[in-house]
Amino acid sequence: ANNINTGIIRSQFPILQRMVKDKPLVYLDNAATTQKPQAVIDALVSYYTTCNANIHRGIHTLAEEATAAFEATRDAAQVFINAPSREEVIFTKGTTEGINLVAATWGRKEISAGDEIIISAMEHHSNIVPWQVLCEEKGAQLKVIPVNEIGELDMEVFHQLLSEKTKLVAVVHVSNALGTINPVKEIITAAHAAGAKVLIDGAQSAPHLDIDVQALDCDFFVCSAHKLYGPTGVGVLYGKKAILEAMPVFQGGGEMISEVTFEKTTYNELPYKYEAGTPNIADVIAFKAALDFIAVTGKQNIAQHEQVLLEAATRQLEEIDGLHIIGRAKNKASVISFVIDGVHPQDIGILLDNQGIALRTGHHCTQPLMACFGIPGTSRASFAVYNTLEETEKLTAGLRKAIKMLL
Ligand code: PMP
Repeated sequence: ANNINTGIIRSQFPILQRMVKDKPLVYLDNAATTQKPQAVIDALVSYYTTCNANIHRGIHTLAEEATAAFEATRDAAQVFINAPSREEVIFTKGTTEGINLVAATWGRKEISAGDEIIISAMEHHSNIVPWQVLCEEKGAQLKVIPVNEIGELDMEVFHQLLSEKTKLVAVVHVSNALGTINPVKEIITAAHAAGAKVLIDGAQSAPHLDIDVQALDCDFFVCSAHKLYGPTGVGVLYGKKAILEAMPVFQGGGEMISEVTFEKTTYNELPYKYEAGTPNIADVIAFKAALDFIAVTGKQNIAQHEQVLLEAATRQLEEIDGLHIIGRAKNKASVISFVIDGVHPQDIGILLDNQGIALRTGHHCTQPLMACFGIPGTSRASFAVYNTLEETEKLTAGLRKAIKMLL
């Protein structure tokens, strides 16, 4: 029941051919960033080779071609998250910029002293710090949904935290550190009932789950292209049209304006109102090749394949003495975090790298979450569509070898 032919998939990712420390690369750091298929690399080269030009303003052929390609990515991204309209799809640098944009515009206008913003204990630093800064500035309060011992949100406490003071709930859809899939639909419904808006950090859900912002009914959704087989430096911010229209501007400059005089400036319509300056044209254009790759491969197929890898790796790692998996939520996606008695995660990372295996070690930009578990960090393996069962076995064998050397 697996529709992924990893041989065919892997042949599209040139980097997977390389050796690391004289061993074939086993890339298991996909939650940090995914590798890029040839089609994405080709799209970058093709843009610079054939139609490099600044977009939207030019009337010459190159400018028209570049503009069409850039806007075609917006259409593909709209389909990818099922946004009602292309005006609601704003290109950013990534998830981090998307969250900061919402904090600096919607937050600056809507949050005042005494208001409350709810986040969770498993947020990435990028979904903590912007809200902390905003709360400090406004005299608002940050509330945190706790995480239980298996790495799930304590939903009972969440419902208790919600009140008429709550203006925003900003939560991660899938945890990058634990793999937990959060019940965001329940969170959104309850938050709306309390009169609050909801931002979903989709950095880790967009690669693994079907995303339908209309079914979710979230007010904002953010994700990063580089975790979706696409280029770095590109992200998508979705916002409901009425909210985006009412928000103050983010950065001022070219493109985001309608008319400028020294007396008064009027702003461009959506989505351009939030896309000041020359954007990351090449990478946005190449992002479409990544979205096409995902569409052709099939999100369901990708998710199913990754689930097989996650279950196999979990079974194999559980058999290693002294290894503890951190995050045992019932619903998990593609991430397995663990600690080993008496072994520092960094030593694991180094010894596995010596075997060509790329893992992530450390706090994964979730220091408060690590504090909840009373640990400084974990080792983390995270899977993508091109990973194989042989690779989970290499991971297991690699870990056993590393432990033998360290203990
Ligand atoms: N949120 C989560 C859950 C993430 O995993 C990441 C990336 N590690 C981010 C936010 C930030 O994404 P970016 O660095 O692409 O802006």
